[in-house]
Amino acid sequence: MLKINSKLPTTGTSLFTVMSALATEYNAINLGQGFPDFEMDNTLAELARKAIADGYNQYAPMAGYMPLREAIAEKVETLYQHKISPSDNITITPGGGYAICTAFTTILDPGDEVIVFEPAFDSYIPNIVSCGAIPVVLELEYPAYKINWDKLKSAITTKTKAIIINSPHNPTGTVMSDDEMLQLQEILRDTNIFLISDEVYEHLTYDGLQHNSVLKYPELFERSFACFSFGKVYNCTGWKLGYCIAPKAWMTEFRKIHQYNAFCCFTPTQVAIAEHLKNPSTYLGLKHFMQQKRDLFISLMENSGFDFLPVDGGYFVTATYEKISSLGGLDLAMQLTKTAGVATIPYSTFYNKGQDYKILRFCFAKKEMTLIAAAEKLKAITPGSF
Ligand code: PMP
Repeated sequence: MLKINSKLPTTGTSLFTVMSALATEYNAINLGQGFPDFEMDNTLAELARKAIADGYNQYAPMAGYMPLREAIAEKVETLYQHKISPSDNITITPGGGYAICTAFTTILDPGDEVIVFEPAFDSYIPNIVSCGAIPVVLELEYPAYKINWDKLKSAITTKTKAIIINSPHNPTGTVMSDDEMLQLQEILRDTNIFLISDEVYEHLTYDGLQHNSVLKYPELFERSFACFSFGKVYNCTGWKLGYCIAPKAWMTEFRKIHQYNAFCCFTPTQVAIAEHLKNPSTYLGLKHFMQQKRDLFISLMENSGFDFLPVDGGYFVTATYEKISSLGGLDLAMQLTKTAGVATIPYSTFYNKGQDYKILRFCFAKKEMTLIAAAEKLKAITPGSF
């Protein structure tokens, strides 16, 4: 019998997959996995259908369809006052997650250390470990979930190759301020540390807050791979289209990995998005649209057994639940799916060691009627039911 020496011996099927399957099995409302349950913009869908009809059905260039890269460069210049080259600095990828994974593969050698802040999106640590590198985990502490700069400084060693940040943040919804970005820039000055910046929720900041992309900070950008997702911008997570922006020398190496992996991405959606991006209102309106959903869900959940933390960005709200249950997060999430009819994600999923602070994440990127129906079920739970 052949045996594989597993690159990820402790990793199982992600809880997002498990909870979505459980939600389907129990016919529960899925506020677990982060994807919209409403239709994407039909204008964009129509552009994709047109691209297929117009014959855009062969391989796209390895780095991406050029008009799409040009449209991204224009957007970046307008939003972040940073001029980048469509030829040298941008590669279109099959999703933001692939961009992050490829950035890690590009820079990491076995034994390198990468600083990860937890709670963290679940792909980062497996990506790092499968390169033979070592995740060095720092906790963002409840309830503010902000980076502790002293702890960061003391975690940096001669082996630190990279730090990964995520703003707006999944799952906590925190958004890094200008001061925080400058603090990070200061700490990284005169080091050889790369920065992977997960900005898939770039257009989802609320209450007038700005997204502070690494692209706004030329000194930070010099060491960065910034990763983005069109799935989150245009409510089409199933299109799995994203991109990475990096300085020319890093992008050259990134493309060496990408060209023998995916090589290129689905052509029709690239052609469609290149056209759609010409109209900035298609992405600038997203934050208002999604903020209304956040506000609706929070107001519907007033006087429920869940206590919600403030949320500044992204797709998710976070709640503690001591009034209704003393169960651990995973057990409660399972019970809620099976008996209350609402699927959520326990925060323990976002910790490598599974720490359970008894917190649940709810995705509010859903139709109004979904949020209303979910809130009704969740509010019907009486104290001590579970
Ligand atoms: N990073 C974060 C923080 C995410 O939430 C997600 C998607 N849930 C991704 C990356 C992956 O994005 P994509 O689906 O475009 O690969």
